Amino acid sequence: VAPDLHASVLPAVRDFLSTPKQLFIGGEWVDSASGETFETIDPATGRVLTTAARGGAEDIDRAVAAARTAFEGEWSLWTPAQRQRILFRISEAIRDRAEEFAQIESLDNGKSAGVAQGVDVLWTAELFAYYAGWATKIEGRTIPVSVPWAPGAQWHAYTLRQPVGVCGGIVPWNFPLLMAAFKVPAALATGNTSVLKPAEQTPLSALLLAEVMAEAGLPDGVFNVVTGYGEAGAALAAHMDVDKIAFTGSTEVGKLVVDAARGNLKKVSLELGGKSPQVVYADADLSTAIPGVASGFLFNHGQACTSGTRILVEESIFEEFTQGVAEVAGASKLGHGLDPTAEVGPLVDGTQLERVTGYIEDGLRDGARALTGGSRHGTEGFYVEPTLLVDVEDSFSVYREEIFGPVAVATPFKPEEGVRRQANDTPFGLAASVWTRDISKAHRAAREINAGTVWVNCHNAFDAAMPFGGFKQSGWGRELGEGAIDLYTQNKSVNIAI
Ligand code: NAD
Repeated sequence: VAPDLHASVLPAVRDFLSTPKQLFIGGEWVDSASGETFETIDPATGRVLTTAARGGAEDIDRAVAAARTAFEGEWSLWTPAQRQRILFRISEAIRDRAEEFAQIESLDNGKSAGVAQGVDVLWTAELFAYYAGWATKIEGRTIPVSVPWAPGAQWHAYTLRQPVGVCGGIVPWNFPLLMAAFKVPAALATGNTSVLKPAEQTPLSALLLAEVMAEAGLPDGVFNVVTGYGEAGAALAAHMDVDKIAFTGSTEVGKLVVDAARGNLKKVSLELGGKSPQVVYADADLSTAIPGVASGFLFNHGQACTSGTRILVEESIFEEFTQGVAEVAGASKLGHGLDPTAEVGPLVDGTQLERVTGYIEDGLRDGARALTGGSRHGTEGFYVEPTLLVDVEDSFSVYREEIFGPVAVATPFKPEEGVRRQANDTPFGLAASVWTRDISKAHRAAREINAGTVWVNCHNAFDAAMPFGGFKQSGWGRELGEGAIDLYTQNKSVNIAI
């Protein structure tokens, strides 16, 4: 990279990258059983950052055994207050090392270091703090019962919330640290132990997280990281001694995880793909809607499961609105994640570059027109121009399938027909946004759109307390908020005959 960007890399990050990375199992750094490693690259340059251990089924066995031992050992005796304290300590430690985390995430994934720090890392710290708070507030109930065939008897019935056990987490590369934070803090707050399998494209931040958690005093084996490819994920999903698996990634692999989990019917939660609509009514405040909708599909270079990639615009403002979005998107500065002026970074790797440019080519061949963008940017790294396609039919692959790059399609809708059918015309249902100044239209759309999250006059506005997950093929269950407590606990009924 340019010398000034190179100079901005923190000494701690240089140190971190200067050694091959190992697996973190049972509190120790170890090589993979096979001794194999893989390279992880800077997607802005295509150059190798460092190597990571390639974990396989044997390593998953070791990690699950360590997590089981920890679950049944000292960790099970920790009080809720102790769990709360350590999760707060981890949260603070992440904040203290935010810049280091952000640079590692930026180098490994390609995203802006500023965004990584302000969004991925800060929110990771918030999630640890949020679930720290929950650790001491997980309560059962007393239930007045009247067993029908025992008239006159008296009972004392209550529920106990207990941890599920060993929890596997499999995460993608688009928000490597943050997706781990959607899983691990909730699992630990409720007294479980965890085995995390990061994506092969971005193994690094999870390893720094393991270091930080161990330094904060987490007992050995409570949190384990096995880096590697899908084979490691598959072994974790199929493992007979894993009690729950939480998966974030593609819908295709999500279905494989469900199949793999059959053996012991472990609990499964899934956060999968999306093709989220952004619905723009003619009465919207265009001065906020135009940049808002543009960033709704460009955030994280379009590599967000909630990306608003189907822009549905009321026909009377279609030309004006799409021109406006195309101008904003076309003016975005592309560049290295460590360059503070860059707005859109590279895609994560060459495979994604081919996939995304392939979709654009298919769309153009089908008859779509690019109002801006339409091809790869430059020859070094994996950049794609922000692209807005119009003249798109609902049968085109660019309209139907998740592209996972800075590419959106825009189609008009007629106010007299409403937008419900078009908005829901997708096998996904993760998110949507509605842009209007009419409160009735906003509430109606919020009810009618089949998506786990509906935003009004904003897109990608999240909070730790708000449940997150999908309708239809976007997933099973809800992470974040109180819902995650349900995912990570068993609800046991106890009934005592007095
Ligand atoms: P992916 O499904 O290819 O990989 C995700 C993870 O699964 C990786 O760690 C991978 O190694 C692992 N894996 C691969 N094969 C496996 C198998 N057979 N069994 C178990 N694990 C396996 O997804 P990706 O390309 O890394 O990520 C992009 C996808 O993730 C997009 O579709 C996106 O929408 C989705 N995503 C969803 C959310 C959400 O919360 N809904 C968030 C981020 C990303």
